Amino acid sequence: MRFSAILVAAGSGQRAGQGLAKQWRALGGLPVLAWSARALIEAGADPLVVVIRSGDEALAKAALSDLSGWVLAHGGENRSESVRSGLAALSQGGPEAVLIHDAARPFVTTAHVQSLLDALASADGAVPALAVADSLKTLGDKGLVAASRDGLFQVQTPQAFHRQALQAAYDALPPDAAMTDDAGVMERFGGRVVAVAGDIRLFKLTYPEDFAMADALAAGRRAVRTGLGYDAHRFEPGDRVWLCGVEIAHDQGLVGHSDADVALHALTDAILGAIGEGDIGDHFPPTDPQWRGAASAVFLRHAAALVMAKGGALINIDVTLICEQPKIKPHRQAMREKLAEILALPLDRISVKATTTEGMGFTGRREGMAAQAVANVDMPLI
Ligand code: MG
Repeated sequence: MRFSAILVAAGSGQRAGQGLAKQWRALGGLPVLAWSARALIEAGADPLVVVIRSGDEALAKAALSDLSGWVLAHGGENRSESVRSGLAALSQGGPEAVLIHDAARPFVTTAHVQSLLDALASADGAVPALAVADSLKTLGDKGLVAASRDGLFQVQTPQAFHRQALQAAYDALPPDAAMTDDAGVMERFGGRVVAVAGDIRLFKLTYPEDFAMADALAAGRRAVRTGLGYDAHRFEPGDRVWLCGVEIAHDQGLVGHSDADVALHALTDAILGAIGEGDIGDHFPPTDPQWRGAASAVFLRHAAALVMAKGGALINIDVTLICEQPKIKPHRQAMREKLAEILALPLDRISVKATTTEGMGFTGRREGMAAQAVANVDMPLI
């Protein structure tokens, strides 16, 4: 089923502590909002309308830079106004189903979305609901008094609706009515809302201590991703080569548009491969004159910055140089130190090796040299 989604992120989040509103705070290396935005888009939301406060555009664009299929809308004084704004941003010809979700609930999954959409087949709306587990009390004049929890549920988001039915309910809602959830708006005008199984992991980040729980969950949602890179360059007359960012005197040079550092090119491709960001030519086209003679460390730094922007962290790299000459071993330590400096990694996570091909092939005939690299990256698995 096609659906659009509205991600409500216009709150100031004051109960969650000082500083940045909670939707922009870091969680597992990414802003809180990026978790649910990515999950909803991966579940198929098209489009995703992200409702923010005026002035938060730069924060939103940074959090969503990695994603496509989203638009921004500006929220109002309260949640209801923000949802109205999100609905207005959806085109009238768009999908019939819409999900409304709080950005402060980062751990939504495709399975949650699917069960809500399935439930829409027989209702105007569907919400995740959890039976109340704790005992309930009311506070009276004489202290706490037991209250029944029978038939009581905690309701979470995302909440799913037939868009036109939800729009009609909001159209009928008085402008000053501040509702805490969208199912409430639908019910108020006679819409039928059903429950699907809630999930304690859909909890809302509300208080500072909630972030400790979220950090623990985020830590469990990471995976190691591996990328592989390969490059080769031809020898030409010259007096030096650049390998792993180190200048080495040699009786030949390497042909290339940049400094022809075959090792850094293979390593840059390995890192880009691990994070699904294409290859070095996509980011630095050889047809672009600004990269003529460029130090290839620029390419490697760019790939490492992309890893960070995605909430990832390089774990280790391993480079193998393939050539008969120059001899690599005398320069290995300098190469590792240079890579450690460029990537800001400890030396023991950086390996540089070399091999010959025993006279066989283009490297054996000394026509050129090649390099292979592997990079492991610890990434959020949303
Ligand atoms: Mg190259």
